[in-house]
This record gives sequence, C-alpha cells and structure tokens, in this order.
Amino acid sequence: MNEVVLYRKYRPQRFSEVLGQDHVVRILSNAIRLNRVAHAYLFSGPRGTGKTTVARILAKAVNCANLAGNFEKNSGQIGIRRSEAEADSRGIVCEPCNTCDACLDISSGQSLDLVEIDAASSRGIDEIRALRDAIRLSPLKNKYKVYVVDECHMLTREAFNALLKTLEEPPSHAIFVLATTEFEKVPETIASRCQHFEFRKVSENIIRESLREIAQKENINIDDEAVGLLAFFADGSLRDGHNLLGQIISLPNDKIDAQQVRLLFGAPSRELVEGLIQSFIDKDSQSAFSIIKKAVDSGIDARLFLKFILRDIRSMLLLALAPNMEKELKGLLGENEFRFLQAAKDRFKPEELEFILRTLLDAYTVRPHFYLPQIPLELAVIKIINRR
Ligand SMILES: [Zn+2]
Repeated sequence: MNEVVLYRKYRPQRFSEVLGQDHVVRILSNAIRLNRVAHAYLFSGPRGTGKTTVARILAKAVNCANLAGNFEKNSGQIGIRRSEAEADSRGIVCEPCNTCDACLDISSGQSLDLVEIDAASSRGIDEIRALRDAIRLSPLKNKYKVYVVDECHMLTREAFNALLKTLEEPPSHAIFVLATTEFEKVPETIASRCQHFEFRKVSENIIRESLREIAQKENINIDDEAVGLLAFFADGSLRDGHNLLGQIISLPNDKIDAQQVRLLFGAPSRELVEGLIQSFIDKDSQSAFSIIKKAVDSGIDARLFLKFILRDIRSMLLLALAPNMEKELKGLLGENEFRFLQAAKDRFKPEELEFILRTLLDAYTVRPHFYLPQIPLELAVIKIINRR
C-alpha cells in the first residue's frame, strides 16, 4: 500500500466527512440547498486542509440528481443514520448522493463538467484562455460546470486578466472555485469578485482521530502514542497526516510503536525531552546543555526538538490550569508521556510554566541560522534555568 492510495481512498465524498472546516461546509451546504450558489468562490488556507476536496463535493452537490437534504426533518427519529445526525448537529443541510450519474462521474474524475487547473504547474495562460473561450458553452451533461483553479496565486498576470474578464460576467452555468495557500498574492480585483472562505489548520486532535479510524479500517497495528506523534507531525494538514500514516505502514513491521515513528522522522526520544524538562526543574544548566548537544549530535533538528519541548510545556500548563482537558491531553500524548507531564507539572508554579512557554515560543519564532541552529534553544534554556 502506498501513501497516495491511502489519501485518495479516504478522501471525503460528502460535506459531513470534511474534518475541521465546519464553518465552510455549513455555509456552502445552505447556499446549495437554497439555490443561492455563488459564481465564484475563493478558498484560501494551508495545504492539505480540504480546499480542492470541498470544491469537488460542491461540484457534485450542485449537479446531484437527488440532493439529499432536509436532515432536520429526520432528526430525533429512531433509526436515523449516524452521519446524518452528525451532519445535522453541524448545520449541514444537504449532501450529494454519490450514486447518481453526475456524482459518480465527478467522483471517478471522468466528468467533463468539472475542470481542474493546477496553476502551480502550468501557470495557466493557455488553460485560462481556452477556458475563457470554452466557458460560453453549456455544461455537457449537468446543470453546472465547475472550474477549479488550484494554487491560483501562481497564475501569470495575463492569466489573471483573462480570468478577471470571465469573472466579471460569468455565464449562469459556471461556478469558479479558486484555491490558494497564499491569499495575499491573489489580486484584489479577483478576490473582491469571489465569496471568500478561509480554511483552517485541522486540530491535532481531529487528525489523530482520523488516523486512528483509518488504521482501524486498514487493520494496522499501531499504538496510540505513535498515532499521536503522526498527528503532531502532520502540523494541521490532514493530507500530510494520511501520507505519513501511509509511509509508516509501508514499513515491514507487524506492530508500529512511537519509537519507530520517532526514528523514521528524526524526532527526539522521550528520554531527551524528559531529560531537558528535568533540567528545568533542577535548574541544572550543565545537564541541559549536554542534552541539547546529544540531540544535535545524533542528527535531531534543533527546531523540532524545541517544538517537542514547547508541546510538553504547554500540556503541563493546561494540566495545571484546566484539569478538564485531562482526557483530551491523555489521548493526544499517549499514556507514558501523559504520566510524566502530570507529575512534572507539580514541580513548577503555573507562572513559571507560563514564563517557560513564553520563552520557548520566542525562541521558536526566531528563524534558525544555518550556523549552529541550536542557538535559539540554548538561549532560551539559559533564561529558563536562571528564572527566579
Ligand atoms: Zn448525486
């Protein structure tokens, strides 16, 4: 099994399967249900958060022959499907059926009424020109023809101008979805003609749940701590999370644990992370510096090390101040790490943890120098150990 397959296989096919973007799918599904679909959308946000996936679901929903909707009519009835009940609670009011011709064509990538242009690879001049000429033609089979321009900020100025002309007078059968990871590079003239949706980084918790679910379905033997680490590395991108899981399961091991994940992705061992936190407790600069040296010598990226410490200190602060988050943190961190942090937090006053967190965060925002990239961490450690 390779990683791309895993991502494609679990790509959401319905609004309710889209994770972490409720604010987008709620509004979109309402617009579709009320027949108030806009002619141009701009989806901005970090990579791997579902922009083109939502564009495809939108293309299906506007063309679907039996748009399933009216969830609220069903809610409360016995036997309601779980996904529908959930969709209802999230304010999703319609879904593509995924069984009619239009839905199936689009799902399989066969539909001529869904045109996807990747501006990053083509810069789009010819495509946009061709599109401008073709756009007057009605959809071949469906009500709407949907044009998705991915990484639209990469379009050349000529392509943008061509696009602008089209957006000024879009034919009634055309829907544009412009997707971008760099909203600030999209010309104002374009952005102002689109309905803008901001996609957000997906929370570590949601990514972890998703990975756990996929691992279960795929019969992958992977422990919770390892799943938590993958979610951490995914850094808000569900796609990255799925790809990382794909990489991990291509290893020839029967059981995947956190140690293997750490090794594969060059993450510091718990021993190093916990050692450094212990040195904060003991105010022991000698031990702190030898731990950082050991980490760097063994090829661990200093910034990544810093990120792990940040994560732990933040967890300790939350445990100290918001004990009701205990369960969530336990799931996110895994049993061993959780137990260590639970005990370690009592060795600090909350205001100490706050100071340490702030200091580490400052260090993390410093762009690491190529020469001795561990310097920001070392400076932070000096401050932390000399705290009063
Ligand atoms: Zn359908």
